[in-house]
Amino acid sequence: LVISVLFLIISVSVIIAIAYVQINNEQTLSLGLKYGIVLDAGSSRTTVYVYQWPAEKENNTGVVSQTLKCNVNGQGISSYANDPTRAALNIDGCMKKVREFIPVNQQNSTPAYLGATAGMRLLRLKNASAAEEILTSIQNYFQSQPFSFRGAHIITGQDEGVYGWITVNYLMGNFLEKNIWRAWVRPRGAETTGALDLGGASTQISFIPEKSEQNPNNTVQVTLYGYDYNIYTHSFQCYGRDESEKRLLASLAQNSLGKQYVENPCYPLNYMVNLSMSHVFGSLCSASFRPVNYNPEGLIGFKGTGDPVMCHEKVASLFNFTACHGEQVCSFDGVHQPKVKGQFSAFSGFYYTVSALNLSGNFMLHEFNSSMWKFCGQEWSKLPQILRKFDETYARSYCFSANFIYYLLVQGYKFDDESWPQIYFQKEVGNSSIAWSLGYMLNLTNMIPTEGPLIILPMSS
Ligand code: AMP
Repeated sequence: LVISVLFLIISVSVIIAIAYVQINNEQTLSLGLKYGIVLDAGSSRTTVYVYQWPAEKENNTGVVSQTLKCNVNGQGISSYANDPTRAALNIDGCMKKVREFIPVNQQNSTPAYLGATAGMRLLRLKNASAAEEILTSIQNYFQSQPFSFRGAHIITGQDEGVYGWITVNYLMGNFLEKNIWRAWVRPRGAETTGALDLGGASTQISFIPEKSEQNPNNTVQVTLYGYDYNIYTHSFQCYGRDESEKRLLASLAQNSLGKQYVENPCYPLNYMVNLSMSHVFGSLCSASFRPVNYNPEGLIGFKGTGDPVMCHEKVASLFNFTACHGEQVCSFDGVHQPKVKGQFSAFSGFYYTVSALNLSGNFMLHEFNSSMWKFCGQEWSKLPQILRKFDETYARSYCFSANFIYYLLVQGYKFDDESWPQIYFQKEVGNSSIAWSLGYMLNLTNMIPTEGPLIILPMSS
């Protein structure tokens, strides 16, 4: 008995000692933090993200987390075509917060990236020198900053899609997980989550199809932790939320020339607003609707009729479904797309819209339809009581956005009653936002190794 008790005491002491060393070790490690900064220069606004991770665990998965997020005041950088220096000055408010947050002795070694998306891709098509001047003014601004600036670049739609997919799967721990022996292994089943991103000027879909795709236009191969992924991805320019709504307004206005008001069935009943002609027709996406008497400063009055049936019909006309000629492996506008497969995460504009309908996470397609129908029949004066946060420009557009999402996901990507509940509408995982920016930084800092020395592939996968 004495021997057994002694053995028990020794065993417990050893376990306590190991646990103590382990905890202490982790505490010491956590002292060495590293930081990275990404400026997501979207079409409607710029967001500054700061990420942090323990220096010693750089190549592990799931160790990078978002620690600061700052929305830059004002519009997206592409709106400063006439005053490029202001694009850079506006960023300074957020950069001040970043300077206060990152320890001074680490600022020099902290990488900072600016990636611009579809708003700047469109501006570059319309006015390449203006786009260049905006990027240069940002580049110049960063010369006065203590960080290691790695350039202001316009990223491609394909990159946007793939980096969004990497972010989602990194945050969900789909690449590697720790087993009970604390070794990194590929999760059993090795399923990944598709990414659905609705920005202001473009929208992206990315997922791993059932069968490997051959089409190089839509397939990107990435090797992460020693494993290859063939990702189907497509970015639809002019199918972002804002640009799509401009196309609707432009088509309505074109058909109502000479009338006192343009009736908009997607705006709530009794809502009225004057919008400039440049807002409606100024974009490349809506330029084909421009009337002969186009005057950028001229105003067009829009009047909401809150008509769900008519709104549904008008939104359908924004998509070209006939270009697919009845083919099953096609979304719209003649774009090849294999059948959707597995779980999806729908973020950004998708999330904002469903949460205005009082929905989030996953739910049935008929729940979405009935919430949309109900919302679209509401009168303008009722919206402040219905919406948790009331902002005029967002509030007037939720009915449009919901209809747009319906057509995009159901008639376009072909989600049905069965696959729709596989879509999880969310904006973050933990406290980290789902956006292409994290995947972009992980890639550019080589934080996801292509080789995975610690990986053990389960026999079954
Ligand atoms: P972003 O995630 O900033 O690229 O925005 C994507 C789309 O969502 C754009 O069309 C924005 O206008 C819209 N949006 C951004 N924030 C909100 C919000 N709080 N409520 C509704 N729509 C939003």
